[in-house]
Amino acid sequence: METVGALRIFERSYISRGLQYKDMLGDGDSATYNKIVQRKPYGDECIPKKLECIGHVQKRVGSRLRKLKSANKGLKLADGKGLGGKGRLTDGKIDVLQNYYGLAVGENLDDVDQMAKSIKASLYHVASTDLNPQHHLCPNGKDSWCGYKRDEESYKHKNGIPECIVKKIKPIFDELSQPQLLQKCTHGMTQNVNECLNGLIWDRCPKTTYVEHETVALSTYLAVVKFNDGDISFLKIFEDLDIKPGSFTAQELSSGGKSSSGEAENETGEDIGILHEAWDYEDWLMGDNSEDIWVRH
Ligand SMILES: [Zn+2]
Repeated sequence: METVGALRIFERSYISRGLQYKDMLGDGDSATYNKIVQRKPYGDECIPKKLECIGHVQKRVGSRLRKLKSANKGLKLADGKGLGGKGRLTDGKIDVLQNYYGLAVGENLDDVDQMAKSIKASLYHVASTDLNPQHHLCPNGKDSWCGYKRDEESYKHKNGIPECIVKKIKPIFDELSQPQLLQKCTHGMTQNVNECLNGLIWDRCPKTTYVEHETVALSTYLAVVKFNDGDISFLKIFEDLDIKPGSFTAQELSSGGKSSSGEAENETGEDIGILHEAWDYEDWLMGDNSEDIWVRH
């Protein structure tokens, strides 16, 4: 369904809007992108480029490490202990590694080599102990994110990841710092905006209850209106419908305009844009209800 929907959006963009999408922001799944490349909606002149959502790339660190851990439950490493357990590769440490990876990508968008270096630095930084500090790749100076480099004397290490675990997980970091992958992250964007809109739609129309397409379409219209301008736009709709709202409604919607866009910002953690690709009711009727298509232009 996602592939069918994405193809339709790409194929109609030039005909209906005179617009060619240059890039497609997506997660790791390339099936939809490959179909678009095969179909060449704009001929050979403009082949859309695949961009990776940095949020999804970051999450790969956690999912790969957790997978490695569960696939090696009975494994004994060089020090006679397993991967998991206290002071080992705990869920907390996995989260820390994943967060450091995200920062390494986000802070070096204009330099892929530096991005890869920072990813490696984060692994050794997290593996460091008082007896074995490994901050050789961490940035120097008092503005460094590395506390050890900021003040070597007073820095106290927490539980570092043992060396045999570092050895075991390093291939994952090597793979996730390949320039081909990092190159696709230099735009610095995530799919959060799309996920935010997606959430607004299904808040109004929970998937747990079966509804007809008119209800989904209406929920989508309402979500788009709220996403773009906040609750205040409902006052304009009332006005167009010649409905005079009561004072409490008017007051709530007027103030809600501000709080609602704030809500969207908080959910996504970034400033949200305007939704350009409006819901196409006709497509919905035809069965094009793909909900997880992430496209930018
Ligand atoms: Zn460090």
